[in-house]
Amino acid sequence: MKVLKFGGSSVANAERIKLVKNSIESNARDHKQIVVVSALGGVTDLLLKAAEQAAERNEAYTQIIEEIEKRHLDTARELLPVSSQSKALSAIKRELNTLETLLEGAFLIGETTPKLLDRILGYGELLSSYIIGEYFVSAGMDAIHKDSRSLIKTDESYGKAAVDFTTTNHLCETYFGTVTYRTIVLPGFIASSAHGNSTTLGRGGSDYTAAIIAGAVHASVLEIWTDVSGMYTANPKLVKQAFAIPDISYEEAMELSHFGAKVLYPPTIQPVLLRGIPIHIRNTFAPEEKGTFIRKNTNGSSRPVRGISHIENIALLSLEGSGMVGISGISKRFFEVLSLHNINVALITQASSEHSICIGIAEKDMEKAGKAINEAFEYEIATKKLNPVVVESELAIIALVGDNMKSHQGLSGKMFSALGQNNVNIRAIAQGASERNISAVIHKSDVKKALNTLHERFFEDHVKQLNIFVMGVGNVGEKFLNQIDRQKKYLKEKLKLNVRVVALSNSRKMYFEDNGIELKNWKECLDNGETASKERFFEKVKELNLRNSIFVDNTASDIVAATYADYLKNSIAVVTCNKIACSSDFEHYSLLKDLSRKYNAPFLFETNVGAGLPIIDTLKNLVASGDKVNKIQAVLSGSLNFVFNNFDSNSAFHDVVKQAQKEGYTEPDPKIDLSGIDVMRKILILARESGYQLEISDIENESFLPQESLDTVTVDDFYKSLVTSKSHFEKIYTDAASEGCRLKYVAQFENGKAKVGLQHIPKDHPFYNLEGKDNIVLFFTERYSEQPLLVKGAGAGADVTASGIFADIIRAGNM
Ligand code: ADP
Ligand code: ASP
Ligand code: MG
Repeated sequence: MKVLKFGGSSVANAERIKLVKNSIESNARDHKQIVVVSALGGVTDLLLKAAEQAAERNEAYTQIIEEIEKRHLDTARELLPVSSQSKALSAIKRELNTLETLLEGAFLIGETTPKLLDRILGYGELLSSYIIGEYFVSAGMDAIHKDSRSLIKTDESYGKAAVDFTTTNHLCETYFGTVTYRTIVLPGFIASSAHGNSTTLGRGGSDYTAAIIAGAVHASVLEIWTDVSGMYTANPKLVKQAFAIPDISYEEAMELSHFGAKVLYPPTIQPVLLRGIPIHIRNTFAPEEKGTFIRKNTNGSSRPVRGISHIENIALLSLEGSGMVGISGISKRFFEVLSLHNINVALITQASSEHSICIGIAEKDMEKAGKAINEAFEYEIATKKLNPVVVESELAIIALVGDNMKSHQGLSGKMFSALGQNNVNIRAIAQGASERNISAVIHKSDVKKALNTLHERFFEDHVKQLNIFVMGVGNVGEKFLNQIDRQKKYLKEKLKLNVRVVALSNSRKMYFEDNGIELKNWKECLDNGETASKERFFEKVKELNLRNSIFVDNTASDIVAATYADYLKNSIAVVTCNKIACSSDFEHYSLLKDLSRKYNAPFLFETNVGAGLPIIDTLKNLVASGDKVNKIQAVLSGSLNFVFNNFDSNSAFHDVVKQAQKEGYTEPDPKIDLSGIDVMRKILILARESGYQLEISDIENESFLPQESLDTVTVDDFYKSLVTSKSHFEKIYTDAASEGCRLKYVAQFENGKAKVGLQHIPKDHPFYNLEGKDNIVLFFTERYSEQPLLVKGAGAGADVTASGIFADIIRAGNM
């Protein structure tokens, strides 16, 4: 004999009930089967709401009755042939009339008792099972409907009654032993007391009904048919990458369901475990899927963690005080009080100093519990041996579960470091003595991020999802997005990084897509986005609270640079090609570095110097490995190098500058390059990264521009001044050429001092042959004292800058 249970979403409407029939019809030929059904999806909630409204004397409850009536009548009309409709419809109406009378009673006296509530809530299952039973019969099945209240006997703890297994097993054995129908349809959730009063088994209790019957009749299997394909590694509604666990032990399943895996009502396991009956969780909407087997001997899994679950709406209650040490019986009294008030404890932690007890309870119980404990320890609190109870709310418990966890070391270390890296604050920790479970209490707003972080850490073969928020989609930004789009597959397969661009913004618009933007259409998405705002952008990034978040600044804006601290403080990495932050005052630069360390958020700006060339990274490695930088000599301006490589006696200086701008090698305002400011910023950053405390004002800059050009305000006027100063520039060229030298704009750092300026470079110097827009850096260090360490290559251009940002993102992802 098989027992099958169909949940609320599986029987939500006529169409779905037809699927249920498909699933069981073939079975009926080979097995006698017991089919336990829930209320039509959502009906129990509606009944509860109607009862609450009636008790508040709110007449709106009558509308809910109408809605319930319509749903059941519509379902019955769609399922039943006209010939058998009238009998069924009048039976349904009769039941609904009784329900209405009960609710009217609650309305008149302005209250519902737990006893009355159980009667009211039971109508969901009574009606659904009746309709489904009639449907099976009318479809020619050898079926009958039976009321579970005549089989399952409980005490009178309304709301969640305790089963009298001796009587129940006896009644079930007798009934199912004699009934000859091949399919017996029963309502889940409801039972009755010895006095004949209707009771319920607790919300979600239809699973339990099915398990009780399966146990009583020694079923070969208990099938739980629901809306997902099994028990998943984490709640699939919150973790997209979660997958169905093929095989799991009773104990693991029990632990997962106790810690919130709603797919199975926790008490369900007990009756079948005792008899070794396997549970098979299956999907009504995808019956071909394998589902999950819960049984004694599971096929071993190589993973120590079998699943992750969580419970929301938790409060932490702690009792502390010096009076606790050494006084025996405090814990006993503490837990007795809780039990007396029917308060369920979800998690316990006690410091080994015995200085405090801390428990996790449902938020709805927190006031009652706080009051009860304070009253029970009134004397100790008055005499200052104990402090009054402290209660914290808006929390959640998240738990790792697995039978094999005990034989693996370092799991809790992994768990807490993964959470810590993502700024998930842990308020309390507990580990079951069986070592089958490690749980942590966290803030409820971190649940989704924490579940995904842990899932990634323990189940996704180390594929790490990076969530990227991009500000600035100009030249560099566009190239960057194209590169990500092209490399996405490679990154995932080879580097195990799943890079998703979640947000884009330019100065006018911004666009967010929680599941990652389809990069082929990014322009369209952005055009349809909302009005841009740096503040709103930051707030949204924070609200989304995604793991491994990276903010990318592709702008040259000082306002954007001023927001980095906010991101870092929220453990969001910052990757930027914008030099402003790192070349601002030293105090701000070091603040950002400190925040990056403190909040475990990478702050990377490789492209601040030499675009995509690995200059800063090389420097960092030198310093980190204990080398000391004595001198840096460099040509760091791709734009100035381009200008002086192309400027000669046959060309006019202003034309060459124009060409450099046209080809994208200069800043939007070319004066920033030509005045040397850009190079000053770069050498400043290199000096700082070498460990020196320097300000931009400490850098010597002898400009080659005439005063007239330096004094201009607009880009237009700047170009005009270059035209009028033509002979000034010609002289600069001929002076160098007459010495057989080339002109290079050189940045130098030595003995703690930095300077920038145009120099005559002779033929034998490594800078002489520097082509096009190339950059070169020579590091003279203690280790590289004779021959400097040299980095050389293209140092400007959108494509190489974009690839430098890309490289920083991969660095951030691997940190
Ligand atoms: P039914 O109405 O069939 O009893 P439930 O809504 O009670 O279904 O349980 C199924 C739901 O449980 C799923 O839709 C899913 O949202 C939720 N759930 C939570 N944790 C898990 C998990 N670990 N595996 C599968 N489902 C889970
Ligand atoms: N209908 C009940 C509830 O919603 C029982 C169940 O569906 O398992 O809680
Ligand atoms: Mg359920």
